Amino acid sequence: MRLHETFASLAGIVLYVEAIMSSDQSGRRLQEGPCTLLLKHTRYEDKADTQEVGCVDHSTNDIIAISGSESMKVGLLAMLNSNELTSNESTMYSTKAYFTSNGQLFLSGDLDSVVFGEDASSRKSNPTLGPKTMLALRVIASDVSTTSTADKISDAWFGTSGERVNLKSQYYACSGGKLHCNPANQGSGTSRGVYTATINDRVNGTDNGLIRKAAIAAAEAELGTLNPQFDHVMVCIPPGTSGTWIAYAFVNHWQSVYNNRWCGFVSAQMHEIGHNFGLAHSGETSSYDDQSGMVRGL
Ligand SMILES: [Zn+2]
Repeated sequence: MRLHETFASLAGIVLYVEAIMSSDQSGRRLQEGPCTLLLKHTRYEDKADTQEVGCVDHSTNDIIAISGSESMKVGLLAMLNSNELTSNESTMYSTKAYFTSNGQLFLSGDLDSVVFGEDASSRKSNPTLGPKTMLALRVIASDVSTTSTADKISDAWFGTSGERVNLKSQYYACSGGKLHCNPANQGSGTSRGVYTATINDRVNGTDNGLIRKAAIAAAEAELGTLNPQFDHVMVCIPPGTSGTWIAYAFVNHWQSVYNNRWCGFVSAQMHEIGHNFGLAHSGETSSYDDQSGMVRGL
Protein backbone atom coordinates (compact mmCIF):
# COMPACT_ATOMS: atom_id res chain seq x y z
CA MET A 1 0.00 0.00 0.00
CA ARG A 2 1.37 3.42 -0.91
CA LEU A 3 1.86 6.03 1.77
CA HIS A 4 -1.05 8.22 0.68
CA GLU A 5 -3.33 5.19 0.61
CA THR A 6 -2.27 4.33 4.15
CA PHE A 7 -3.15 7.85 5.22
CA ALA A 8 -6.48 7.64 3.41
CA SER A 9 -7.43 4.43 5.21
CA LEU A 10 -6.26 5.80 8.54
CA ALA A 11 -8.41 8.87 7.97
CA GLY A 12 -11.29 6.54 7.16
CA ILE A 13 -10.87 4.72 10.46
CA VAL A 14 -10.76 8.02 12.38
CA LEU A 15 -13.92 9.21 10.60
CA TYR A 16 -15.60 5.90 11.34
CA VAL A 17 -14.69 6.04 15.05
CA GLU A 18 -15.99 9.60 15.21
CA ALA A 19 -19.17 8.58 13.40
CA ILE A 20 -20.08 5.91 15.94
CA MET A 21 -19.73 8.49 18.71
CA SER A 22 -22.33 11.25 18.79
CA SER A 23 -21.80 13.15 15.55
CA ASP A 24 -23.54 15.20 12.90
CA GLN A 25 -23.88 14.51 9.15
CA SER A 26 -20.36 15.81 8.47
CA GLY A 27 -18.89 13.33 10.98
CA ARG A 28 -18.06 15.99 13.54
CA ARG A 29 -18.19 14.94 17.19
CA LEU A 30 -20.95 16.86 18.92
CA GLN A 31 -20.93 18.09 22.48
CA GLU A 32 -22.47 15.19 24.40
CA GLY A 33 -23.22 16.88 27.72
CA PRO A 34 -22.63 20.09 29.65
CA CYS A 35 -19.09 21.35 30.21
CA THR A 36 -18.07 23.71 33.04
CA LEU A 37 -17.19 27.23 31.89
CA LEU A 38 -13.79 28.68 32.81
CA LEU A 39 -12.63 32.26 32.43
CA LYS A 40 -8.93 32.52 31.56
CA HIS A 41 -6.94 35.73 32.13
CA THR A 42 -3.62 35.98 30.27
CA ARG A 43 -0.96 38.63 30.77
CA TYR A 44 1.49 39.54 27.98
CA GLU A 45 4.91 41.20 27.86
CA ASP A 46 3.40 44.40 26.42
CA LYS A 47 1.09 44.50 29.47
CA ALA A 48 -1.95 43.56 27.42
CA ASP A 49 -4.36 41.42 29.41
CA THR A 50 -6.77 39.20 27.53
CA GLN A 51 -9.74 37.15 28.60
CA GLU A 52 -10.84 33.95 26.95
CA VAL A 53 -13.55 31.45 27.73
CA GLY A 54 -12.80 27.77 28.03
CA CYS A 55 -14.76 24.78 29.20
CA VAL A 56 -13.89 21.67 31.23
CA ASP A 57 -15.00 18.59 29.31
CA HIS A 58 -16.48 16.32 31.97
CA SER A 59 -15.58 13.10 30.13
CA THR A 60 -11.84 13.89 29.90
CA ASN A 61 -11.38 16.69 32.47
CA ASP A 62 -9.52 18.59 29.73
CA ILE A 63 -9.75 22.37 29.58
CA ILE A 64 -10.79 23.17 26.02
CA ALA A 65 -11.00 26.52 24.28
CA ILE A 66 -14.38 27.70 22.98
CA SER A 67 -14.41 29.05 19.46
CA GLY A 68 -17.12 30.56 17.32
CA SER A 69 -18.35 33.96 16.20
CA GLU A 70 -16.89 37.12 17.74
CA SER A 71 -20.33 38.23 18.99
CA MET A 72 -20.86 34.89 20.73
CA LYS A 73 -17.48 35.15 22.49
CA VAL A 74 -18.14 38.76 23.51
CA GLY A 75 -21.56 37.72 24.82
CA LEU A 76 -20.11 34.89 26.93
CA LEU A 77 -17.40 37.17 28.37
CA ALA A 78 -20.01 39.81 29.22
CA MET A 79 -22.11 37.25 31.09
CA LEU A 80 -19.04 36.06 33.05
CA ASN A 81 -17.91 39.60 33.86
CA SER A 82 -21.39 40.64 35.04
CA ASN A 83 -21.61 37.55 37.29
CA GLU A 84 -24.57 36.25 35.33
CA LEU A 85 -22.28 33.26 34.84
CA THR A 86 -19.55 32.12 37.25
CA SER A 87 -16.25 30.69 36.15
CA ASN A 88 -15.84 27.06 37.29
CA GLU A 89 -19.47 26.88 38.44
CA SER A 90 -21.69 27.59 35.45
CA THR A 91 -22.13 24.94 32.80
CA MET A 92 -22.87 25.23 29.11
CA TYR A 93 -24.46 22.84 26.65
CA SER A 94 -25.48 23.30 23.06
CA THR A 95 -26.80 20.77 20.58
CA LYS A 96 -25.11 22.91 17.91
CA ALA A 97 -21.61 22.72 19.45
CA TYR A 98 -19.01 20.34 18.04
CA PHE A 99 -15.34 19.55 18.56
CA THR A 100 -12.92 20.82 15.90
CA SER A 101 -9.92 18.85 14.65
CA ASN A 102 -7.61 20.91 16.88
CA GLY A 103 -9.63 20.08 19.98
CA GLN A 104 -11.64 23.29 20.40
CA LEU A 105 -15.36 23.36 21.11
CA PHE A 106 -16.98 25.27 18.26
CA LEU A 107 -20.29 26.95 19.01
CA SER A 108 -21.97 27.12 15.63
CA GLY A 109 -25.18 28.72 16.83
CA ASP A 110 -25.59 31.97 18.74
CA LEU A 111 -26.04 32.15 22.52
CA ASP A 112 -29.78 31.45 22.14
CA SER A 113 -28.84 27.85 21.28
CA VAL A 114 -26.91 27.45 24.56
CA VAL A 115 -28.40 25.98 27.73
CA PHE A 116 -26.67 27.25 30.86
CA GLY A 117 -26.69 25.38 34.16
CA GLU A 118 -24.72 24.97 37.34
CA ASP A 119 -22.12 22.46 38.48
CA ALA A 120 -22.60 22.50 42.24
CA SER A 121 -19.73 20.07 42.80
CA SER A 122 -17.09 22.66 41.88
CA ARG A 123 -18.44 25.43 44.10
CA LYS A 124 -16.13 26.49 46.90
CA SER A 125 -17.40 27.45 50.33
CA ASN A 126 -15.00 30.20 51.33
CA PRO A 127 -12.17 30.32 48.85
CA THR A 128 -10.14 33.20 50.25
CA LEU A 129 -9.89 32.19 53.90
CA GLY A 130 -8.01 29.57 55.87
CA PRO A 131 -5.10 27.31 54.97
CA LYS A 132 -4.35 26.65 51.29
CA THR A 133 -2.07 23.83 50.20
CA MET A 134 -0.03 24.90 47.20
CA LEU A 135 2.18 22.96 44.81
CA ALA A 136 4.50 24.42 42.16
CA LEU A 137 5.55 22.25 39.22
CA ARG A 138 9.06 22.61 37.85
CA VAL A 139 9.26 21.08 34.37
CA ILE A 140 12.05 19.08 32.75
CA ALA A 141 11.20 18.69 29.05
CA SER A 142 13.15 16.85 26.37
CA ASP A 143 14.89 20.01 25.12
CA VAL A 144 14.88 22.49 28.03
CA SER A 145 13.96 22.82 31.72
CA THR A 146 12.48 25.53 33.93
CA THR A 147 15.52 27.75 34.63
CA SER A 148 15.10 28.12 38.41
CA THR A 149 15.98 25.23 40.68
CA ALA A 150 13.30 23.66 42.86
CA ASP A 151 14.94 25.34 45.88
CA LYS A 152 14.66 28.78 44.24
CA ILE A 153 11.03 28.24 43.20
CA SER A 154 10.15 27.14 46.73
CA ASP A 155 11.92 30.18 48.18
CA ALA A 156 10.13 32.57 45.81
CA TRP A 157 6.69 31.20 46.69
CA PHE A 158 7.06 30.28 50.35
CA GLY A 159 10.31 31.80 51.65
CA THR A 160 11.78 28.39 52.46
CA SER A 161 15.39 29.65 52.09
CA GLY A 162 14.93 33.02 53.71
CA GLU A 163 13.34 35.10 50.92
CA ARG A 164 11.32 37.58 52.96
CA VAL A 165 8.92 38.87 50.30
CA ASN A 166 7.09 35.93 48.80
CA LEU A 167 3.54 34.93 47.94
CA LYS A 168 2.94 33.32 51.33
CA SER A 169 4.17 36.34 53.30
CA GLN A 170 2.33 38.87 51.11
CA TYR A 171 -1.05 37.16 51.13
CA TYR A 172 -0.74 36.55 54.86
CA ALA A 173 -0.09 40.26 55.41
CA CYS A 174 -2.80 41.42 52.98
CA SER A 175 -5.46 39.22 54.53
CA GLY A 176 -4.75 40.33 58.08
CA GLY A 177 -3.37 36.87 58.88
CA LYS A 178 -6.46 35.05 57.62
CA LEU A 179 -4.97 33.42 54.55
CA HIS A 180 -2.23 30.84 54.88
CA CYS A 181 -0.64 29.78 51.58
CA ASN A 182 1.29 26.71 52.67
CA PRO A 183 3.74 24.65 50.63
CA ALA A 184 2.43 21.16 49.90
CA ASN A 185 4.16 18.29 51.62
CA GLN A 186 6.12 17.55 48.43
CA GLY A 187 9.79 18.12 47.83
CA SER A 188 12.01 18.29 50.89
CA GLY A 189 13.92 20.85 52.92
CA THR A 190 14.32 24.10 50.99
CA SER A 191 12.42 22.83 47.95
CA ARG A 192 9.24 22.05 49.89
CA GLY A 193 6.06 22.65 47.87
CA VAL A 194 7.71 21.92 44.52
CA TYR A 195 7.32 18.81 42.37
CA THR A 196 9.60 18.24 39.39
CA ALA A 197 7.63 16.90 36.42
CA THR A 198 9.59 15.22 33.63
CA ILE A 199 7.85 15.21 30.24
CA ASN A 200 8.74 13.85 26.80
CA ASP A 201 7.57 16.92 24.89
CA ARG A 202 9.77 19.56 23.26
CA VAL A 203 9.10 23.07 24.58
CA ASN A 204 10.70 25.21 21.89
CA GLY A 205 7.98 26.81 19.73
CA THR A 206 5.24 24.69 21.34
CA ASP A 207 1.96 26.10 22.65
CA ASN A 208 2.27 26.41 26.43
CA GLY A 209 -1.12 24.72 26.93
CA LEU A 210 0.30 21.41 25.69
CA ILE A 211 3.27 21.69 28.07
CA ARG A 212 0.91 22.57 30.95
CA LYS A 213 -1.20 19.51 30.20
CA ALA A 214 1.83 17.20 29.95
CA ALA A 215 3.32 18.53 33.20
CA ILE A 216 0.05 18.04 35.10
CA ALA A 217 -0.38 14.55 33.62
CA ALA A 218 3.18 13.63 34.70
CA ALA A 219 2.56 14.92 38.23
CA GLU A 220 -0.80 13.12 38.46
CA ALA A 221 0.79 9.85 37.30
CA GLU A 222 2.91 9.87 40.45
CA LEU A 223 0.89 11.90 42.97
CA GLY A 224 -2.67 11.05 41.94
CA THR A 225 -5.35 13.59 41.02
CA LEU A 226 -3.92 17.00 41.94
CA ASN A 227 -7.11 18.85 42.88
CA PRO A 228 -8.60 18.86 45.50
CA GLN A 229 -5.48 17.22 46.99
CA PHE A 230 -3.82 20.61 46.38
CA ASP A 231 -5.82 23.85 46.50
CA HIS A 232 -3.55 25.58 43.96
CA VAL A 233 -1.13 24.17 41.40
CA MET A 234 1.31 26.59 39.76
CA VAL A 235 2.99 25.37 36.58
CA CYS A 236 6.40 26.96 35.89
CA ILE A 237 6.86 26.40 32.14
CA PRO A 238 10.42 26.26 30.70
CA PRO A 239 11.46 29.12 28.36
CA GLY A 240 10.77 28.97 24.62
CA THR A 241 7.04 28.27 24.22
CA SER A 242 5.33 30.22 21.45
CA GLY A 243 4.04 33.76 22.01
CA THR A 244 4.86 36.63 24.35
CA TRP A 245 2.76 35.54 27.30
CA ILE A 246 3.92 36.11 30.88
CA ALA A 247 1.40 34.20 32.96
CA TYR A 248 -2.24 33.20 33.11
CA ALA A 249 -4.79 31.77 35.48
CA PHE A 250 -8.30 30.36 35.44
CA VAL A 251 -10.76 32.30 37.58
CA ASN A 252 -12.17 30.49 40.63
CA HIS A 253 -9.99 27.48 39.80
CA TRP A 254 -6.79 25.73 40.94
CA GLN A 255 -4.42 26.19 37.98
CA SER A 256 -2.10 29.10 37.24
CA VAL A 257 0.72 29.04 34.71
CA TYR A 258 3.95 31.05 34.45
CA ASN A 259 6.42 31.58 31.64
CA ASN A 260 9.71 30.49 33.25
CA ARG A 261 11.22 33.38 35.24
CA TRP A 262 7.79 34.96 35.88
CA CYS A 263 7.17 32.06 38.29
CA GLY A 264 9.59 33.77 40.68
CA PHE A 265 8.05 37.26 40.67
CA VAL A 266 5.78 37.88 43.63
CA SER A 267 3.76 40.45 41.64
CA ALA A 268 2.91 37.82 39.02
CA GLN A 269 2.23 35.17 41.67
CA MET A 270 -0.20 37.37 43.59
CA HIS A 271 -1.97 38.56 40.45
CA GLU A 272 -2.56 35.06 39.10
CA ILE A 273 -3.41 33.40 42.43
CA GLY A 274 -5.81 36.33 42.92
CA HIS A 275 -7.61 35.18 39.76
CA ASN A 276 -7.72 31.64 41.21
CA PHE A 277 -9.42 33.15 44.24
CA GLY A 278 -12.05 34.56 41.91
CA LEU A 279 -10.83 38.14 42.04
CA ALA A 280 -11.15 40.37 39.00
CA HIS A 281 -8.89 43.26 38.05
CA SER A 282 -9.27 46.40 40.11
CA GLY A 283 -9.89 48.37 36.91
CA GLU A 284 -9.17 48.54 33.23
CA THR A 285 -5.68 49.89 33.92
CA SER A 286 -4.79 47.23 36.47
CA SER A 287 -1.24 46.01 36.19
CA TYR A 288 1.34 43.96 38.01
CA ASP A 289 2.63 47.22 39.50
CA ASP A 290 -0.59 47.91 41.31
CA GLN A 291 -2.09 44.93 43.08
CA SER A 292 -3.82 46.92 45.78
CA GLY A 293 -7.32 46.93 44.32
CA MET A 294 -7.27 43.25 43.65
CA VAL A 295 -5.87 42.31 47.02
CA ARG A 296 -8.34 44.58 48.80
CA GLY A 297 -11.02 42.27 47.41
CA LEU A 298 -9.95 39.81 50.11
ZN1 LIG B 1 -5.02 39.34 35.15
